[in-house]
Amino acid sequence: MKLYNTLDKKVVPIKPLKKGKLTIYNCGPTVYFRMHIGNIRAYVNWDILHRALIYTGYKVERIMNLTDVGHMSKDEDFGEDKIELQALKEGKDPISIANYYISTVLEDFAKLNILSPKGNPVDPNMPLEKLEEEGWTRATGYVDEMIAMVKKMEENGYTYETTQAVYFDVTKIDNYNIFTNQSLEEKQEGVREEVGVDPEKKHPADFVLWMKRVGKYKDHTMHWNSPWGDGFPGWHIECSAMSTSVLGEYFDIHTGGIDHLPLHHPNERAQNIGTFGHPSVKYWLHNDFLTGVEDSKLSKSAGTGASLPEVLSLGFDPMDIRYLFASVNYRVQLRFTKESLDGARNARVSLISKLRNIYRESNQKEGEILEDYKRQFIKELENNLNVSGTLAVISGLLKSKEKPEDILTTIYDFDKVLDLNLREETERKDMDIPEDILKLANERVEARKAKDFELADKKREQIESRGYRMIDTEDGFTLEKI
Ligand code: AMP
Ligand code: ZN
Repeated sequence: MKLYNTLDKKVVPIKPLKKGKLTIYNCGPTVYFRMHIGNIRAYVNWDILHRALIYTGYKVERIMNLTDVGHMSKDEDFGEDKIELQALKEGKDPISIANYYISTVLEDFAKLNILSPKGNPVDPNMPLEKLEEEGWTRATGYVDEMIAMVKKMEENGYTYETTQAVYFDVTKIDNYNIFTNQSLEEKQEGVREEVGVDPEKKHPADFVLWMKRVGKYKDHTMHWNSPWGDGFPGWHIECSAMSTSVLGEYFDIHTGGIDHLPLHHPNERAQNIGTFGHPSVKYWLHNDFLTGVEDSKLSKSAGTGASLPEVLSLGFDPMDIRYLFASVNYRVQLRFTKESLDGARNARVSLISKLRNIYRESNQKEGEILEDYKRQFIKELENNLNVSGTLAVISGLLKSKEKPEDILTTIYDFDKVLDLNLREETERKDMDIPEDILKLANERVEARKAKDFELADKKREQIESRGYRMIDTEDGFTLEKI
């Protein structure tokens, strides 16, 4: 496998620390709001990575955190704790807020076939006690490990304490801004004066490791005892503590969105160096953003994010969304528009209609995997997850003269990586479209040819009122049960 390592600024061959096995940490969601579709893009990308690694012969140990304390609004040190703020808004306690939004993460993952970090299909109703078993680490479950890490950094001389907090002293680290190559002076200019900032803080880029329950936070609901008094952990220490305590002092891959390049990831790296004397992570991978219609971040903090249920309510199938995210490389910025989703739906539906034709020709015989095509498919995956290349391999195979049953078996095998429910969709028993629906669909085609769009729309409505959706494809149309 070759992947783009942000530190090397290029695609590099992945050499696991332990032969044949890769350890992976995904920066996970802060569970104070329903995830927006941009977050979901990130998790589809890393799901494809996990599946591609398995498919190409690696063993994977992966975890993903659930941030349920200490992540401040606008990623500031002295902002509002996102979970506590939401608890206040909803009149609930922070733990119920976190639990509720964790259950929505599970629902969204299950709908989009995103595996648990452990690599299993997600049961949206699983008891939350099983999160850990499935590879999710909750920040509130690792506070002892966070405190131990801050103690170690303190012993190693990387921290200082004020009346309000314990800070990491960034001037102690060479190349602190390694991901953006900004100098500390440049960064200093970039740091806004925060309201209520700590006057004892030495450098504006120093960041909180432990926040004391004093001043602004004197009534913070979630708090723990520590050598520096009652308080709660900073957001960045959470990821360092969870990743290294579960995966080990050294691990292979760390992922996150490009929003983490200027702050969260340099801080994680600095903490690892402060604790262990080395950065712990071998490869840093970053997904580019899903942008909204105005090219702005679909930000849930701004309250403008589109959630999965909102997108589905526009009439899309969850697999249309998965197809869209699975067809674009993780390093490419993607615009989320109705047109991009329509395009993904048409491409997916047209793929399935081709597969159905092949299925009919195959007389339902089981086939064999076509090894040449599999090799090409793997080659594309190994090339920094060139997913558009994998789709091109599928197109080529669909046009080939291979036996229909072999084509199907091979594409179903590829679907272990893409997981677009291809077998299930192709072999669905309810796909025999009733004659009268087909007749309506052909009448709509005729009406459109005659440019009678009013009649065409009426026919579409009639089809939909009978429980079918008509989708135009490159070579005609296809009908789907709603
Ligand atoms: P958060 O819950 O805001 O910490 O975000 C969870 C994950 O989603 C992080 O890894 C972010 O980098 C990623 N993320 C946030 N917004 C977007 C977006 N618009 N597109 C892609 N990834 C995103
Ligand atoms: Zn993180």
